Amino acid sequence: MSVILPVAQRGEPILSLIAASVAEHEFGSEWLTQLASALYETMMARQGVGIAAPQVYISKRIIIVASRANPRYPYAPTMEAVVMVNPEIFEFSSETVAGEEGCLSVPDERGQVTRAEQISVCYYTLNGEKVETTFSGFPARIVQHEVDHLNGVLFVDRL
Ligand SMILES: [Zn+2]
Repeated sequence: MSVILPVAQRGEPILSLIAASVAEHEFGSEWLTQLASALYETMMARQGVGIAAPQVYISKRIIIVASRANPRYPYAPTMEAVVMVNPEIFEFSSETVAGEEGCLSVPDERGQVTRAEQISVCYYTLNGEKVETTFSGFPARIVQHEVDHLNGVLFVDRL
């Protein structure tokens, strides 16, 4: 069963909150799995390349990063979708790059945002396994954009 959730739009208070960390006992739970699945379906239905739980009115630190070419981002590289729970970017490259961003919560606007070209991020899987990895280019941009959502920041705040 696929569940497509409504997406919060710019100006709604949920998008300005600092989201809460997923708690130890929530890892591996049915609720977390179902939330991740609904987030994924909602992102796909809207042709997003990433999504954060606060965008579907759930103020928890969960994001999906899923770069792929689609009509909204025709030149995006393809990667396997990654669900990140409690993600933390612990390293930003000093090299930055400007690039166009949009957002499912700001459907009528795009803008050039300067981001670190490469980042290292630490996160947990849905089952609570800890992962550390590095992204560069467009996927690194998506991670930074989605982590911003967990901190109540929209790309338009960075223009
Ligand atoms: Zn967004």
